[in-house]
Amino acid sequence: MFKLACGDVMPGCAARFENSDRAAMMAAVVAHAGADHGITDFTPEIVSAVESKILFAA
Ligand SMILES: [Zn+2]
Repeated sequence: MFKLACGDVMPGCAARFENSDRAAMMAAVVAHAGADHGITDFTPEIVSAVESKILFAA
């Protein structure tokens, strides 16, 4: 299971994501970031910040 706590990237956000499909999880994160954080431009810096916080637990 790939897991991400949005609060690790966006302090104060309680949203958490988990999915066995990493790409599907990233799609959910992108949708959440756009809806709740107003982030529509995923720069390489933002993507790498998010990806650095992804955990994998079987
Ligand atoms: Zn969030």
